[in-house]
Amino acid sequence: MTAETLIKIKNLYKNFGKNEVLKGLDIEVKKGEVLVMIGPSGSGKSTFLRTMNLLETPTSGEVYFEGQELSEKSTDVFKHRERMGMVFQQFNLFPNMTVLDNLTLAPIKTGRLKGDEARARAEQLLARVGLEDKANAYPQSLSGGQQQRVAIARALTMNPDVMLFDEPTSALDPEMVGEVLAVMQELAEEGMTMVVVTHEMGFAKNVADRVIFMADGKIVEEGSPEQIFDRPREERTREFLSRVL
Ligand code: ADP
Ligand code: MG
Repeated sequence: MTAETLIKIKNLYKNFGKNEVLKGLDIEVKKGEVLVMIGPSGSGKSTFLRTMNLLETPTSGEVYFEGQELSEKSTDVFKHRERMGMVFQQFNLFPNMTVLDNLTLAPIKTGRLKGDEARARAEQLLARVGLEDKANAYPQSLSGGQQQRVAIARALTMNPDVMLFDEPTSALDPEMVGEVLAVMQELAEEGMTMVVVTHEMGFAKNVADRVIFMADGKIVEEGSPEQIFDRPREERTREFLSRVL
């Protein structure tokens, strides 16, 4: 792994009214790193991901992407978002468009690719997630696992520098979790930088380079998967793991 930093978060606070959700986070993500974030519901994991993508603005603190502070006026929010692929719990595909159109929309709209190039790229990505035969299907006709694999392929069409996953398997029937995790694992092995919020502890153990345990808007503990799962230092971590493992 290179030591080059892609994302740096400094003393990040986020309040919603009087609700203090993020309370001073310091997090660095290196290029090629797979960072898995775990923690109880309501601890601020989604808010953290959304802040990196500028879907939320920090109350205070800084978010740097390749050394550029995102709140600077010179930051192009839309260009920045193009560099981050985001995958949500609820696949968020466009229901009135075919799978292929879901994948070609952003590259064509932003002028990145021409129609036939976008189509070729989409087909290549669908093959990569094992869905080359679904290009002309509509999302509703697919299983949840297939829809989520389409969502991952769609996020990849813009060649993002990092992929953010927010509980990508939480809405799936258990038998479909594995196919989505397998696609994510392949991406990780190909060197994609990934920040993954998940309750899939097996994935965290096998794929993460680093695990952060977050609770109440703070980092309680971070370390290698071995350290967090086999030798947690904090009582709060042990208590959480005993409930989810
Ligand atoms: P997690 O993803 O760890 O479950 P969230 O980041 O979704 O946690 O939520 C953390 C807290 O922030 C919750 O109390 C939630 O109600 C609050 N929150 C999240 N988004 C908003 C919002 N847009 N407006 C107001 N409160 C919010
Ligand atoms: Mg969440």
